[in-house]
Amino acid sequence: MRDVALVVVDMLYDFIDGTMACQGAGEAVRNSLKFIEKITEGSPESDEIIYGTFPILFVRDSHPQGHCSFQAQGGPWPEHCVQGTHGAEIHEALRPYATEELTFYKGYKKDLEQYSGFEGVNHAGQSLHEVLELLDIKNVYVCGIATEYCVRNTCEDLKKAGLRVLLLQDCLAWVDPQGHREALAAMQAEGIKLISQ
Ligand SMILES: [Zn+2]
Repeated sequence: MRDVALVVVDMLYDFIDGTMACQGAGEAVRNSLKFIEKITEGSPESDEIIYGTFPILFVRDSHPQGHCSFQAQGGPWPEHCVQGTHGAEIHEALRPYATEELTFYKGYKKDLEQYSGFEGVNHAGQSLHEVLELLDIKNVYVCGIATEYCVRNTCEDLKKAGLRVLLLQDCLAWVDPQGHREALAAMQAEGIKLISQ
């Protein structure tokens, strides 16, 4: 499948076991890893790997100190994913699959909150959307954290851009269980396909 990619949203330590630890995060990481191993047919160290034929794009929340979304600045969230801290790192089980050119940073401007990874940019300054177009991707699997915020906003932007969005529902974690269920129902109604591996 040449026009398929996976987008991994915010599988970062602060959302897994840090200042904003989300419910279901441990299982979401394990299941995402299983899915990645299935699509890459092995680990990055494996000889039989077809790694690279199925691009894996990572979205990273990446805030400067004193970001507007932090409670100390009047925002809704505890301090999280501050650039250069452990909390901002991709979980170590998934990190071997991440490359800089396919890693997209969001929320890096002090006064701008970005839930969606769609406008996130890599170190070369290319946006996630731009790179999906360059790779001629038409179908995206999405997994990540948190369902109600960054996953939902990313999925909706991908869908609006005309992509077929397949949400891996056992590879998600959430802030609030009811919010998670409502977000899934809303996304389904918008034409985002919920799938289990
Ligand atoms: Zn954030």
